[in-house]
Amino acid sequence: MRGKTDNGRSYYQEIEPELAKILVRENAAYVVNRHTIRRIYSNREFRKLILTRDGHACYFCGQYGDTIDHLLPRAKGGHTTPVNCVCACNECNHSKADRDLEEFTESIARTFRSE
Ligand SMILES: [Zn+2]
Repeated sequence: MRGKTDNGRSYYQEIEPELAKILVRENAAYVVNRHTIRRIYSNREFRKLILTRDGHACYFCGQYGDTIDHLLPRAKGGHTTPVNCVCACNECNHSKADRDLEEFTESIARTFRSE
């Protein structure tokens, strides 16, 4: 996979074909040829893309957010793609940590019930 870092340097990284398929399917990369895919966004561009797309509104609570969160955590096999990433406020990003979305929304429901 080829891509650019935030400082404009090109890099090349061997990745699993399975991962390549996911990155292309989830709009994070495109196919250059049979053996190469290219990342569409640098980290900084990606961050900007997600925050702009979501209008800086936290996916979980709707407050202003300026961090990126993975719906399916990387620890559980989620990838940094436009499909798997949303804008989140600091608080939600922090409280969600590495739980997945289902556990997280359950914990919100519990919070609301207890009030
Ligand atoms: Zn929030």
